[in-house]
Amino acid sequence: MGFPISPEKIERRHYIDGAFSESSDKGTFELKSPYSHEKIVDVCEATVEDTNRAVAAAKAAFPSWSNTDPQTRGSYMKKLAELIKQSNDEFAQLDAMAMGRPVSQYFDAGYAASLFEHYAMMGYEAQGTTSLNTPGFMNMTLRQPIGPVAAIIPWNVPVMMLGMKLAPALAAGCTVVLKSSEKAPLSSAKLAALAHEAGFPPGVINILSGHGTPSGATLSSHMDIRLINFTGSTFTGRKIQAAAAASNLKKVVLELGGKSPALVFEDANIEKAAGETVFSLQMVMGQACIANSRIYVQETVADKFKAAFKANFKAAKKGDPLMPETQQGPQADVIQYERIKTYLNAAKEGKGKLEIGGEVTQVDGKGFFVEPTVYSDVPEDEKTQKEEVFGPFVNINTFKTEAEAIEKANNTEYGLYASVYTNDLSRAMRVAKAFESGAVGVNCTSPTHAMDMPFGGYKGSGQGREGLGYSLEEYLEIKTVLIKIDDAPK
Ligand code: NAD
Repeated sequence: MGFPISPEKIERRHYIDGAFSESSDKGTFELKSPYSHEKIVDVCEATVEDTNRAVAAAKAAFPSWSNTDPQTRGSYMKKLAELIKQSNDEFAQLDAMAMGRPVSQYFDAGYAASLFEHYAMMGYEAQGTTSLNTPGFMNMTLRQPIGPVAAIIPWNVPVMMLGMKLAPALAAGCTVVLKSSEKAPLSSAKLAALAHEAGFPPGVINILSGHGTPSGATLSSHMDIRLINFTGSTFTGRKIQAAAAASNLKKVVLELGGKSPALVFEDANIEKAAGETVFSLQMVMGQACIANSRIYVQETVADKFKAAFKANFKAAKKGDPLMPETQQGPQADVIQYERIKTYLNAAKEGKGKLEIGGEVTQVDGKGFFVEPTVYSDVPEDEKTQKEEVFGPFVNINTFKTEAEAIEKANNTEYGLYASVYTNDLSRAMRVAKAFESGAVGVNCTSPTHAMDMPFGGYKGSGQGREGLGYSLEEYLEIKTVLIKIDDAPK
């Protein structure tokens, strides 16, 4: 079948300074469906010149936007939230077409809209403090927007990422240049069109499409960008931090990869643990930073857990991501598919035991599909146990004691999300305390999270936190104002 949205109705240009434009050199890149392999559309590829123009627009818009009262800023954000909600189905279709996400799993637009709604009034929370503790002075702090900022997002949950990056920055009074991922640029361009309709002043929101080089690299080393908020791989995160250090030492917020462990103790509800840990790996076809890609089960219940897990994992219906009955779509693109194949090969050559899957596959002769794959008894130093596979792939190992389970769970350079299943409250709390991880699920696992709780990583999974009540802080500078007063009454 063809696509539900015809190419001429798809926005594929950059949004800079309140207007849509082609690339300065007219350059484009071809976007293809990972399911049918058909061409969807040629998307504009941002050049250095386009990127510099977007930064200049954000810089020019900053004085006025940062001086606009929070209620007015919030009114644009509320309007945008409404438009995003109304466009839910179109966002779902655009991401299904571009990166294979089943429309049946789509929740990003609702989540993004609620972020814009929640942040709409949060600009009022940017307040300082006062101090009378220094005799002869009345001192205060001012919390002010840091300046024009940049955001670079991945492809797996793009609209959610747009909400997470844009909403707090705009509420704080910052102007933004955001670069979407080359694998899923269409939903970001659609959001740009909605921002335009919502009436944001020119230059406040600028959205570019294109690859890491040149556009992303230009943003990370730009002298006029004061903060860069990046979500993506740890590999690229390192480059962004190095570019920031080498240019103007801009503030860097990094949300990076994960190799998240789930521990299942013998006293847990095994069926529930198996069902939820499977869902964690099915979401976005295992291409989620928080997927529980290492599972450790207590030896005594390992057979029972594995049987339940495998039955659940195999059951997902593969197919066209645009069809409502599809539960497993293709992997995002040929690059992602080839990357996963290298891990399937490494696992075959390794010492683990294949339980199910282990191969790539197709549906009706189409698509970059991967069989849900489970290996067991995988040595801790194997490639698939240490690196992020980013596919429907999991290693299930066993443990005897709590101490052994914690040691193995923390034996990673990542630290994004960790879960523990047990009915022993004291053990749950001990393990939660011991995990080296930005988030912990007790008797639940990813994607479970809460909007008002911080999100971010320990160790190689990143730095800084996002989430209501936490993100705003990243976008504000603190200024100390020392006011000398004449103490003697006149
Ligand atoms: P990626 O690092 O390859 O790309 C991410 C973004 O960075 C893209 O927009 C890309 O164009 C851009 N980029 C690439 N090279 C760049 C450079 N040199 N300078 C500036 N920008 C550059 O990651 P991906 O494949 O898009 O996404 C998958 C990764 O993202 C996984 O590692 C996953 O764990 C991580 N992720 C993390 C979170 C989180 O919140 N922690 C959420 C989603 C995804």
